[in-house]
Amino acid sequence: MTTLISGGHVLSMDPAIGDLPRGDVLVEDGTIAAVAGHGTVDAPGAEVIDASGTIVVPGFVDGHRHVWQSLLRGVAADWSLSDYMLQARALYAGCYDEESAYLGNLLGGLESLSAGITTVVDHCHLQSGPRISDALARGLLDSGVGGVFCYALQNVPVYDGDVDPGEIEDVLTRMPDAWHDTNAARIRDTYFADDRARLRFGVALPEATPYLPGSLVRQLLARADALSPFLVTGHWVDSGPHGVLAELCAEGAWPDRICLSHGNHIEADDLARLAEAGVSLCTTPDIECGMGIGPLAARRFRAAGGAAAIGTDLSNYARADVLQQARLLLQVERSTLAQGSPRPPRSVGYGVRDALALATLDGAEALGLADTIGSLSVGKRADVVLVRPDPLGAQPYTDPAAAVLFTTSPAEIDTVLVAGEVVKRDGVVCRGDLGELQQRIADAAASVRARHHQLPRPEIEQVWAGLFS
Ligand SMILES: [Zn+2]
Repeated sequence: MTTLISGGHVLSMDPAIGDLPRGDVLVEDGTIAAVAGHGTVDAPGAEVIDASGTIVVPGFVDGHRHVWQSLLRGVAADWSLSDYMLQARALYAGCYDEESAYLGNLLGGLESLSAGITTVVDHCHLQSGPRISDALARGLLDSGVGGVFCYALQNVPVYDGDVDPGEIEDVLTRMPDAWHDTNAARIRDTYFADDRARLRFGVALPEATPYLPGSLVRQLLARADALSPFLVTGHWVDSGPHGVLAELCAEGAWPDRICLSHGNHIEADDLARLAEAGVSLCTTPDIECGMGIGPLAARRFRAAGGAAAIGTDLSNYARADVLQQARLLLQVERSTLAQGSPRPPRSVGYGVRDALALATLDGAEALGLADTIGSLSVGKRADVVLVRPDPLGAQPYTDPAAAVLFTTSPAEIDTVLVAGEVVKRDGVVCRGDLGELQQRIADAAASVRARHHQLPRPEIEQVWAGLFS
């Protein structure tokens, strides 16, 4: 199958190719076969996608999200981090059944494609039982998005009868139950056996990991390693109380591919150690700003020589739009660089293309996928996005990178290809069953909220407050 994306303004993000004001991208069997000036690519018999009037960019990379939470849109808008931990992790997570788990991940995957996100790291910490795990994996696979399904070795409460708040404390605080290991291996072998497929298998560490003693962290890393994941991920906001980051760096004990999320308060020495050790970092600006988690780490980590990605994290907070995250990061960094200066600085210090790279090539590098995605380069997977700048709000434009970063919302994402397959065309995600799906999704979301409403929330809140006191 050959497709010619013809006559667009190509923003390749490949330094060797640069921008082509009028260019063609040839796709053969899911792979980019040529990127060249318009009319110079010989492609007899190819399906032609007329890209004139669009900006052609590589598919965007979302380095960290909990995709299942797409079913909870809006509930987190005024949550603090501790509200989130209680509501999402201790309460809502236990209210999902197979249907809601499947639809949460399906919706999150489709939402990604609509926004031009062709690769997402799904930190999937809703593994409350084997059948839920199947539903989560199938949901993301059925959406058609690429990325890494990271099975979280983390216990989740299950509310399917009488609720014992005391038992919830134990579920949330003990090490991940042993059944997770066999279940995760089964999910890997059932759905992600092909390690070159667009969606691969990974492991996510439990949220408590940074605060555990080194011996337990090593146990968790060994359990992750035993699952042969493509990628390991985990939340890691600060250096932790036990000096574990430095120890693991000194021992060379990190997995081959690991991307930590946030890192806001990781000390400078540890950031440098992580960069040196080849550990990556993912910044998620919306929730890190909105919940006051701390200063964004991506730029500092890049400056220390590390590989950084950008992510959306919570789709119950902001929509899954990685360009929105990159915009916010850019302006936060510019604001930070200007702090302490008595007057506006002569240089803003951080550029549009720096921010856009986090959502494309740098993000791919941070996930160990730079040989496969992140730029429009010959030999890479044909994950391609056509942005059609809004005639009134974005045209005429001068720099395509600025137009993509500053004036593109999912509404301007015209066409999306994943591995050469068109998954959004003329502004519409290619699924014939969208209307029916929307009703199922609405019903499933309502049933999750109803179960949440019936929980003995004050008692559970008391348990949760005790955990953090
Ligand atoms: Zn997260």
